[in-house]
Amino acid sequence: MSNECSKIAKCPLFNDKILKRQESADVYKNLFCRNPEKYRECKRYQVSEKVGTCADFVMPNSSLTVEQIIQKMKEKALIP
Ligand code: SF4
Repeated sequence: MSNECSKIAKCPLFNDKILKRQESADVYKNLFCRNPEKYRECKRYQVSEKVGTCADFVMPNSSLTVEQIIQKMKEKALIP
């Protein structure tokens, strides 16, 4: 079992491409990305596992279901 999320290298949220406030990004990184107990619960992780990518509007603790997020990404033509 990995200690941190396998998507760290390419995840825009982890690489500070999404959130303007550094403090907010750091909270997510500590709560999810670097937490071996939690990163699999990250909605970005779960969506990426299903469709290979995740839209920037999705936060790790999104209240939307994975299916709802995928539907939104389709509506925005981010995925086929
Ligand atoms: S836990 Fe979520 S936000 Fe963090 S690197 Fe993985 S996919 Fe990205």
